Amino acid sequence: FKEATELRKSYKGNITGEDIPLPIGSFEDLITRFSLDRRLLNNLIENHFTEPTPIQCESLPLALHGRDILACAPTGSGKTLAFLIPLFQQIINEKDTLGLKGLIISPTKELANQIFLECVKLSNRIYLDKKRPLQVALLSKSLSAKLKNKVINDKKYDLIITTPLRLIDLVKSEALDLSKVKHLIFDEADKLFDKTFVEQADDILNSCTDPVLRKAMFSATIPSNVEEIANSIMLDPVRVIIGHKEA
Ligand code: ADP
Ligand code: MG
Repeated sequence: FKEATELRKSYKGNITGEDIPLPIGSFEDLITRFSLDRRLLNNLIENHFTEPTPIQCESLPLALHGRDILACAPTGSGKTLAFLIPLFQQIINEKDTLGLKGLIISPTKELANQIFLECVKLSNRIYLDKKRPLQVALLSKSLSAKLKNKVINDKKYDLIITTPLRLIDLVKSEALDLSKVKHLIFDEADKLFDKTFVEQADDILNSCTDPVLRKAMFSATIPSNVEEIANSIMLDPVRVIIGHKEA
């Protein structure tokens, strides 16, 4: 416990909320504490991700405990893997549920693409059963059209990364079933939640009907509107601030 306090001090971590788990000191801690899939650990090592960054030390245990998270850490501090590693583990754990289990919403296409590239690294050689690889998709214009025309079955994907507009369009035309989604991640929440998206987010949340929906927001800053939205849509969220909170 003393170690955790020291660790938090070293990266100016400010964690608030109820029943906060201890941070991890290494990715290997995830094997003993959460039975992390060895293939995930191997993919991290193969991509030279050897030590978790501060936001990863704090977010990974929280997410793996199924907690809602409002996280703030500077640009370039590894927020993407902070939400992807637990998400991949949880999708592996939920392998018997066919269909979309994880949804990541990003404010821009460029950012969505960057997240997708990190997913490609993490999902290497990961199969949910003998014949079925863990399937991640970037919701491009063409994929969107194929889902609408039923050329592709939406149950094919375990995880989808999208911008708000593409997602709303698909949800409205009932071409994407969100009823099995258990993990909803809002990346760059400070850029995502403008006026129009606040209303759209309601439609998305209403379509995610699974009772165990876990939500997380990651951002470089937490403006007051994001804080308000987080408190209104999340259940006992834990606030994780790394470094200084900018407004
Ligand atoms: P943020 O979203 O906080 O701005 P990113 O998730 O884009 O940051 O990460 C920034 C860079 O750091 C990326 O190139 C990513 O691959 C790298 N990175 C993330 N986690 C680690 C880690 N644990 N060890 C080494 N590099 C990492
Ligand atoms: Mg980022």
